[in-house]
Amino acid sequence: MPDPTNPALSYTEIVPEEAELVRYIFQSYVDGQGYRSIAHRLNREGFATKRGKAFSPATIRSILTNRNYIGLITYSSQEGTAKSRSRSIVTGTHEPIIEMELWNQVQELLPAGSKPVDTLHARLFPLSGLLKCPSCGKGMIPSHVHRKRKSISSTISHYYICSDYASHGSAACRAYHIRADEVEQRVGNRLALFLSNPILIEKLMVKVQKKYENEVAPLRERLKRIAGEESTLPKRKLRCYELFEENHIAATELKQKLEDIKREAEKLQMERAELERTVSGFSKQIYPLEQVRQAVENLEAIIRNAAPPQKMALYRSLIQSITIPPDRDMRQAVIHGNAGLFHLSISPLSNEGGEPPEWKKQSG
Ligand SMILES: [Zn+2]
Repeated sequence: MPDPTNPALSYTEIVPEEAELVRYIFQSYVDGQGYRSIAHRLNREGFATKRGKAFSPATIRSILTNRNYIGLITYSSQEGTAKSRSRSIVTGTHEPIIEMELWNQVQELLPAGSKPVDTLHARLFPLSGLLKCPSCGKGMIPSHVHRKRKSISSTISHYYICSDYASHGSAACRAYHIRADEVEQRVGNRLALFLSNPILIEKLMVKVQKKYENEVAPLRERLKRIAGEESTLPKRKLRCYELFEENHIAATELKQKLEDIKREAEKLQMERAELERTVSGFSKQIYPLEQVRQAVENLEAIIRNAAPPQKMALYRSLIQSITIPPDRDMRQAVIHGNAGLFHLSISPLSNEGGEPPEWKKQSG
């Protein structure tokens, strides 16, 4: 069914009963049953396809090659004629119902002619939606450009383009094409470098600490002033008694003044208690450095070695968005972490490509 927010994306809605049936089909195939045998058994047991038809070997085959079940969706380019439209695979927002291990087992067992037709051009776009358009800030989505060469082979270039431009054309936004390979490599490198460099993390933790201190500093300042004001109260009280004894003020006036001082003391005490509560609440939000280090210890290796779908899932668990400056200089892109990265932003390194000096110190 079409995605209401982006007509170029389509996905299959999977209901729990269907999920169970799909898993059964995958498992049966791995257990050595053929398309026909699986279809016959399902029909015998009274199951029907979503359209209410009997299962055929062809439907079994299409189920075994449907990437929807591993959490991916197929994206059809809106450019060109229906026939020439390229398709690419992007991550969906739905939960995968088939584990990668089972999926891979099935794909290996499938006869060559039955493999997903777009395997050759299959390409994951791990940054789909995470990359933000330099012009309007909306999410960017995959795009293909086919180039027919004079030689036999045609080349396909992969880009990210503004989703607003993709659906509404140049009236909505600009035709920025961000090269997929380049931006993905940069983001992967920067993330891996960031995660593998304890000093970098420490530096960022210092930033977090500083941010905390900046927020807490005015509160502490106010607390200091309150303490100062409170310390003057006994002296002011004493002065009132003196004025009374020296007959400068009457007894009623003295009483009034002492009451004012008492009220003021209560007010200050209340404010102090409130501020102290706020400050101690702030300090609870600080993450212990060691905990952060442990959390990211192995992520670098995972990022470098993970299969594309896992990498994609990981990106999504760490990255909120990636912003690109209007001049589209990828080196200046900023990765904004989500809660998984403590909402830290990974800004461009001073000498990207080379190792940061701190890192050299660390390994040497
Ligand atoms: Zn845009």
